[in-house]
Amino acid sequence: MFGLMQDRPLLIQQLIEHAALNHGDTEIVSRTLEGGIHRYTYRDARLRSKKVAEALQSLGIKAGDRIGTLAWNGYRHFELYYGISGMGAVCHTINPRLFPEQIVYIVNHAEDQLLFVDLNLLPAVEKLLPQFKTVRHVVAMTDRDHLPKGLNIPNLLVYEDLLADKPGTYEWPEFDERTASSLCYTSGTTGNPKGVLYSHRSTILHAYGAALPDTLGLSARATVLPVVPMFHVNAWGLPYSAPMVGAKLVFPGVALDGASLYELFEKEEVVFTAGVPTVWLALLQYMQANKLKLSTVKYAVIGGSAAPPAMIETFDRDYGVEVLHAWGMSEMSPLGTVNHPKSKHLKLSHKEQLDIRLKQGRPPYGVEMKIVDGDGKELPHDGKAFGDLLVRGPWITSGYFKGEGGDVLEEGGWFPTGDVATIDADGYMQITDRSKDVIKSGGEWISSIDLENAAMAHPAVAEAAVIGVFHPKWDERPLLIIHKKEGATLEKDELIDFLSAKVAKWWLPDDVQFVDAIPHTATGKILKTRLRDDFKNYKLPTAG
Ligand code: ADP
Repeated sequence: MFGLMQDRPLLIQQLIEHAALNHGDTEIVSRTLEGGIHRYTYRDARLRSKKVAEALQSLGIKAGDRIGTLAWNGYRHFELYYGISGMGAVCHTINPRLFPEQIVYIVNHAEDQLLFVDLNLLPAVEKLLPQFKTVRHVVAMTDRDHLPKGLNIPNLLVYEDLLADKPGTYEWPEFDERTASSLCYTSGTTGNPKGVLYSHRSTILHAYGAALPDTLGLSARATVLPVVPMFHVNAWGLPYSAPMVGAKLVFPGVALDGASLYELFEKEEVVFTAGVPTVWLALLQYMQANKLKLSTVKYAVIGGSAAPPAMIETFDRDYGVEVLHAWGMSEMSPLGTVNHPKSKHLKLSHKEQLDIRLKQGRPPYGVEMKIVDGDGKELPHDGKAFGDLLVRGPWITSGYFKGEGGDVLEEGGWFPTGDVATIDADGYMQITDRSKDVIKSGGEWISSIDLENAAMAHPAVAEAAVIGVFHPKWDERPLLIIHKKEGATLEKDELIDFLSAKVAKWWLPDDVQFVDAIPHTATGKILKTRLRDDFKNYKLPTAG
């Protein structure tokens, strides 16, 4: 027997309708690329999203067509999220930090019909345009007055001109909730990027899951500043969760340096923010150098890479900010786990609490997780056994766009994350490493993340990376690569001494190399493939 409740489809356009009707005067604030701050409300955003849908229709865009965006976090990008998906087309967000050849590959693979491009990215698009096979128009995300002169982009359109004569009376269509809504390619450190295709249903369920108190805990009293880009897994879903609960949104545009972010945090009274560790490194350094405090920020989500303990402690002790350590991936929309304590943990000592907060957290309802050994046998949730982490749930991918990579699911519909992890009896998951980064020393595993975290706690270290290097006896041994803080002095022996108090003796790196900068991927992770390449002719002093 079926229940008798209404079978209303879950559709993204309902979020902007909900926000406009119930939080109509709540603000969306953006730092613009033209310069200055733009302010309007959810009511205004709904009107302009409808105009976007009307503009797309006038350009012949149909349901299922892919529309590319190359844009930072701002109000026009937000309107595109709703206008494109709301009319049944697919919003394909492209990471402008990818290599040009990857951008060309992605645009052609997705068969993007239109490309919406932010001002400072137009010159790059101008160069790549001859290689784009399906793009009919580039739309400059600005008004005519700010359009750079002398661009050689045939069929160039201007965003504000497109919207100007549209009535904004568009009636959102209703369709199957499994309809594709947006597309995001994983940066793919090896091989071609692969497209993750989200649906309306998965996006709405993810937005519900993300808003829960022990996930991101968003509400109509929060002001939310996503530092994480809207081209990186839909800014971790914040542009959907915020209108769902009526939170004020603050978009930082392209200015992600410490000074610009700090100014927005203070002026807009931001309560909640989210980003990858490298962004927070820059902000903390800026605040430390200028002796500044944060007056309103209460929560900072750190994800994408492991949050170093030193960062969690500094935010807490010096700035009164609670770090929510989170883990996820593009294939998971992205939220998999977020770290919040349970009430029994509040009685523990500071040190014991910190040990728990280092873990990547617990899954909200909607994400199932298990760990398995090399034979696929399930391992216990005891916080000690570690193995390959598998996940499943309604906002987790079932396969890549156009079948790239073949069948990705394992028996029972489990998606292999490529991460190695432990899970404890309370459901807290801790990443040991990415399976390809773990160092295999004489048949035992060393976690590069644990070593990096330990090194990051040294006051002279700005950033640390650990890679496995060939060793004739042990197969692989850890090499520690350090970027020192400006003006700091640090020698190898001093650092090894410091580490020996923190990690097992056989984990200690065989050598330390100092570099001017640590390379990052387009999504802010340490680019280990490059480091392995840089050190491919390097020989460990212990290798004989
Ligand atoms: P990419 O940027 O490589 O396209 P994702 O952004 O989807 O891919 O990255 C997902 C991966 O990032 C995870 O599988 C995991 O290895 C790593 N990751 C994400 N969050 C964390 C975290 N909090 N701690 C450690 N690793 C993390």
